[in-house]
Amino acid sequence: SVTPVLPTATRTLTVSNQKGGVGKTTTAVNIAAALASVGARVLVIDLDPQGNASTALGVPHTADVPSVYDVLIDEFPLADIVQTSPESPLLTCAPSTIHLAGAEIELVSQVAREHRLRRALDEYLASAEEPPHFVVIDCPPSLGLLTINAFTAAHEVLIPIQCEYYALEGLSQLLGSVKMIQKHLNPPLHVSTILLTMYDGRTRLAQQVAEEVRTHFPDEVMKTVIPRSVRVSEAPSFGQTVIAYDGQSAGAVAYREAAVELLARGARDEGGSAASMTEG
Ligand code: ADP
Ligand code: MG
Repeated sequence: SVTPVLPTATRTLTVSNQKGGVGKTTTAVNIAAALASVGARVLVIDLDPQGNASTALGVPHTADVPSVYDVLIDEFPLADIVQTSPESPLLTCAPSTIHLAGAEIELVSQVAREHRLRRALDEYLASAEEPPHFVVIDCPPSLGLLTINAFTAAHEVLIPIQCEYYALEGLSQLLGSVKMIQKHLNPPLHVSTILLTMYDGRTRLAQQVAEEVRTHFPDEVMKTVIPRSVRVSEAPSFGQTVIAYDGQSAGAVAYREAAVELLARGARDEGGSAASMTEG
């Protein structure tokens, strides 16, 4: 197989969809782990108070652990809270704790409330000896201030779409939010990638949904589709991504393919540059 080309500048993606249970967290952690498995340094920022991404990456996130909450509200440097996943030295996580549940409200009265994450991330990337190739932000299922902070910090939006009833419902609201943030807060923001998840090729419904999404978004939808797979749903209860839990399973294979496709699409967007980030 072809050696994947790592991006020359950090790519920041936010995994967003205001619907819950569509595979945001699963996609964030498994794409991140798959990217790390091909040599990319990846930082996952867990912006969901539920902390499911932190759990899946095997990173402690009890209430006493310094977290994204401290970064957003008390201006802790991101470097002070980032932990390395036991899964790979290339895979790091800024954990979420239960305190983050209050941040949505607390942020309302704060100065530069939409820019908190971006400022922290800019400082982190500028001062890191080896900046990550990818930053992947896992969003909560809402379009509140936490998600706005993610939209302001990222350049790319990755939308997971579950191949089930009402897959496209609420999508125009999400696209409207992206457009608004792009206009007022973060011009480079765009929907770069749509990933079809929990695909069951045996059902006509899944096929129809996939077809409909591809018709609407021919350039954004990845060729790779993530199948519905029990191994994918089991992995988090072992504090693992499916890449580590069962690397040969269909879900792991698909997420690795998605990671390679994401890398290739990035190279295409950079004008097909063949240069890879020089490893120190
Ligand atoms: P979200 O973050 O959007 O709320 P999750 O990633 O937590 O969604 O996924 C919702 C549920 O679906 C979880 O229980 C997860 O384990 C399960 N799930 C996600 N992707 C798959 C898949 N490809 N196959 C089987 N189960 C999946
Ligand atoms: Mg989630």
